[in-house]
Amino acid sequence: MADHPRFGPAGVPFAFKSIKASVEDVPLLLRQEGLDAFEYEAIYWGMKPQIEKNDAQSLGKSAKENDVWLSLHGSYFVNLCGEKRIVEASKKRLIASATAAEWMNARVVVFHPGFYGNRPKELVLKNCLEALRDLVRSLNGLKIKEVKIGPETMGKPSQLGSLDEVLQICEEVEQTQLVIDWSHLHARDMGRFRNVQDFRRVVETVEDRLGTEAARNMHCHFTKIEFTDRGERRHHSLEEERYGPSFAMLAQVIAEFKLRPVIISESPMLDLDAMRMRDIVQSML
Ligand SMILES: [Zn+2]
Repeated sequence: MADHPRFGPAGVPFAFKSIKASVEDVPLLLRQEGLDAFEYEAIYWGMKPQIEKNDAQSLGKSAKENDVWLSLHGSYFVNLCGEKRIVEASKKRLIASATAAEWMNARVVVFHPGFYGNRPKELVLKNCLEALRDLVRSLNGLKIKEVKIGPETMGKPSQLGSLDEVLQICEEVEQTQLVIDWSHLHARDMGRFRNVQDFRRVVETVEDRLGTEAARNMHCHFTKIEFTDRGERRHHSLEEERYGPSFAMLAQVIAEFKLRPVIISESPMLDLDAMRMRDIVQSML
């Protein structure tokens, strides 16, 4: 578990790309910015890892040396709620992500569970739980035991991934890590975070359902978000006042409950907003 709140970007920051940094250089560059987490983006992967084992291991080594915690965002092409053929392909994609995560010593593979389609929500969740239990059995068969699978709260009402559903997955499936995307919850529920109490309530719910340790060690995504009645529309940077949610309110709750989350910036400003969030939290501790 984390010793303190950690911050980092989702993917390689633009400034690093512009100096043609390799992925192994990323942890040192983040450390120089005072950041200590990095989410590797495997979001367009198919059924095989799209990083060489050697490169993944070098990234892991460099992350360890620079005290940067790694996570990996799994493929967007995952739907554990659809017909059997699609679910089977999705499991293979998640196994590819988990394999690479194991190589780089990443702690969690974040993933989007899928879509309800026209089926009843309870049935979709039941099928998804079954698929995930089977996935974990496959991972254990492959001796992938350290990497957790992280169902994420989703930003559209058509997607499985309400807070309640993600908590139920974490309650019922082994080897899971809760992933709270605060912006997704905000968009899904049409602006649910209006005051500090709205943030506090989520932490209290997590504590009730999964215990204090799980609440303290959430893996989080944060960005300002624009939404419509169909959910999330676009990510915005922290300085855009007209969009929510407010990071300062979450920071207050982090300080109050002594949380030690990993907070990944999904803002268009990636590392710059990660630094901003770190400074806001530090100013409240
Ligand atoms: Zn995501």
